[in-house]
Amino acid sequence: MTTVHRSGPETIVDVAPLDMLVVAPHPDDAELGMGGTIIKMIQQGMRVGILDLTSGEPTPLGSEEIRQRETQAATEILNPTWRGNAGLPNRELQHTIESRKVVASYFRMLRPRWIFAPYFHDAHPDHVVATELIEAARFYSKLSKTDMPGERYHPERLYYYFCIHLRLAIQPHWIIDISDQFEAKQQAIAAYHSQFVQGREEMSPTILERLESDAAYFGNLIARRYGEPFATKEPLALESMRDFI
Ligand SMILES: [Zn+2]
Repeated sequence: MTTVHRSGPETIVDVAPLDMLVVAPHPDDAELGMGGTIIKMIQQGMRVGILDLTSGEPTPLGSEEIRQRETQAATEILNPTWRGNAGLPNRELQHTIESRKVVASYFRMLRPRWIFAPYFHDAHPDHVVATELIEAARFYSKLSKTDMPGERYHPERLYYYFCIHLRLAIQPHWIIDISDQFEAKQQAIAAYHSQFVQGREEMSPTILERLESDAAYFGNLIARRYGEPFATKEPLALESMRDFI
């Protein structure tokens, strides 16, 4: 069982390099944006980590303690190799040299091949800052002669998932089929009871129903039941055409 790591990047020991690290502004963004893909990659034997940058609190019905408990419950459904919280300030996330070093330190200690960041157009200031911070930290992570812990390291790729507070007609660069993982993804999201169930609209469409509509829309674009969209700034690099569907 994965217990959420909360004691700083320098205390990470005995974690073999990750295949991918999903970085989220708040606990629940990773689940919302790419919970199905996270579950699928784990099922396929990849080492997947999740780094939440802030506590996500305060919220109207949440608290630090409730959100931590809910994050733990969601984590047990996803079952990632590693999950941690960087403890940066929620609602006031800033791209400073200090916060950049904190995020880069996680990259150096966890050594993920690929990093997933929130899509860069968003209404939530924490999300916009998170994306800038992750992009800068990816570069900073490879610096030598620094006081950051760990060895210099450069994650090979940076991709973007969609967990946005804008109603954008997005043009994804690729879509992952999550038909078989969709139910578990919804369970992981519902684990954040204070955010998506309690005090929310009980009439249809509920938040969970709207999320299902989104997943069905992206699934339909690839002739599958449910899908999750992604974007990239750099071209996709593929070994072969074999994995296309
Ligand atoms: Zn968020």
